Amino acid sequence: MPVRNLAVAAVFDEIADRLDIQGANAFRIRAYRNASRMLQELSGDIAAMVEQGRDLTELRGIGADLAGKIREIAATGSCELLERLRREMPPAVTELLQIPGLGPKRVAVLWHDLDVQTPEQVLRAARDGRIRALSGFGEKTERRIESAVAAHLSKQRRLPLATAGHYADALVEHLRGAPGVDRVVVAGSYRRMRETVGDLDLLVTARRGNAAIEHFTGYREVEEVLSRGGTRASVRLRGGLQVDLRLVAPESFGAALTYFTGSKAHNIALRRRAQERGLKVNEYGVFRGDTRVAGLTEESVYRALGLPVIPPELREDRGEIDAAAAGRLPELVAPEDLRGDLHAHTAATDGHNTIEEMAAAARALGFEYLAITEHSRRQRMAHGLDAQRLRAQGEEIDRLNRQAKGFRLLKGIEVDILEDGNLDLPDSALAGLDIVVAAVHSRFELSRAQQTERILRALAHPRVKLLAHPSGRLIGQREPYDVDMTQVIRKAREHGVSLESNAHPERLDLIDTHCRMAKDERVPVAITSDAHDVAQFANLRFGIGQARRGWLERDDVLNTRPLRELLKFLG
Ligand SMILES: [Zn+2]
Ligand SMILES: [Zn+2]
Repeated sequence: MPVRNLAVAAVFDEIADRLDIQGANAFRIRAYRNASRMLQELSGDIAAMVEQGRDLTELRGIGADLAGKIREIAATGSCELLERLRREMPPAVTELLQIPGLGPKRVAVLWHDLDVQTPEQVLRAARDGRIRALSGFGEKTERRIESAVAAHLSKQRRLPLATAGHYADALVEHLRGAPGVDRVVVAGSYRRMRETVGDLDLLVTARRGNAAIEHFTGYREVEEVLSRGGTRASVRLRGGLQVDLRLVAPESFGAALTYFTGSKAHNIALRRRAQERGLKVNEYGVFRGDTRVAGLTEESVYRALGLPVIPPELREDRGEIDAAAAGRLPELVAPEDLRGDLHAHTAATDGHNTIEEMAAAARALGFEYLAITEHSRRQRMAHGLDAQRLRAQGEEIDRLNRQAKGFRLLKGIEVDILEDGNLDLPDSALAGLDIVVAAVHSRFELSRAQQTERILRALAHPRVKLLAHPSGRLIGQREPYDVDMTQVIRKAREHGVSLESNAHPERLDLIDTHCRMAKDERVPVAITSDAHDVAQFANLRFGIGQARRGWLERDDVLNTRPLRELLKFLG
């Protein structure tokens, strides 16, 4: 079935929903629903029929009025009536339709009688017992609504990027196996590599849209199908992540990808730029009047606005549009730029693999070097190394390096910064190492002045070359400690210290905005895995994502340097 038919059907469905909530004439509502169903079952391409000037009133249930709307939607992706209805009704009201058990009739009653517009307001009304008093609701319905809304709201919690990544990878693979599916892309904040992801937005082009949606809702990880229509479906996976899938017409794919990648702020800025050029941009394309001038690819959308395509990680309205217009977009660091990793643990402390296994995994990634940086003695739970064990590990690394050609293990340590800013190991123990990584693992609650002083002191230590996870935050678990990051970055520059962009899924630390501050101060950033086993090198892609969000280019990243240059920096 032509996907374009589904796009027109979706507009009619939304019109019907909104008319229904407004309490419009039942025949009128049914006319839109019937037209939607007819379009979903139609074997011919409605857009082609419009182009050929065919008489649409020959189609079942289509009169002159609906025929006009089909022509309007085929040309612009929307229609005046829908735009007007969207203006007349609080936007959140249609969000209520996504809550299982709340159809248009009930939403209408809640809206009219209780002035309830958002899920939060529905929840409050249910808990106050105000819903049971409405005609046609009752106590049992009120309880059902309460739990459905609570579930709807709780699934809005955000997942760490890497967790969302596991779901996304598996789901994309599943969908690529669906009959008739051409393209599957994850858009939204996941594509922008935001540190947390609220839900996954999938865009799909397919020759057989129904089959694709069926394949999606039939995915084994789906716990509940929240909604399902001709062109889109929403599910909640086991574990709570919501996934929205949209079928997109191929000619709109680039426009939809731009639109659903966001961010909202970036899209608003794009729309403003379009208006200045007498254009309209939406998820269906870029339009001059009723004529589509772009939309097939993202390149075409940005080109129509006089811009080169902007990498998704930059689309936060943080100056990227001006930079693009001026031809000053950064050439962002890419995975293939990394030549090694500077932060990893082994089974000697709290890791799970031997040095040799970690080295083999790093080599398999094409790396030239890997620093082994165990915890220091203060980290008793992690069996941190004292001076003697550190020396013994160094001898083992020397032995391994003598056997290996074209790969270098670096002797390192992730040494604790004590409360007073001193390091957890004596200078004599650090003297023979290739790299000293310093880290705060305790006393997160110090005052801003004390915490800043503590870290500045460690940065001034002549052996320290890398500050690990500079903010100390754990995503969803622990806020960053209070520290003056501007001072930290300036001090790092003064003493030739690099800042870490730690790719561990719970950390993603350096935070993206601090990456950009480091770049502005010309402090090199090291993108590291902090791997505790061989599989965790795969997390580097999320650290690269944060670095890209921080506008970092290859030369801003320490471990893109060849070994010889790296060793020069490490002194
Ligand atoms: Zn650490
Ligand atoms: Zn570590």
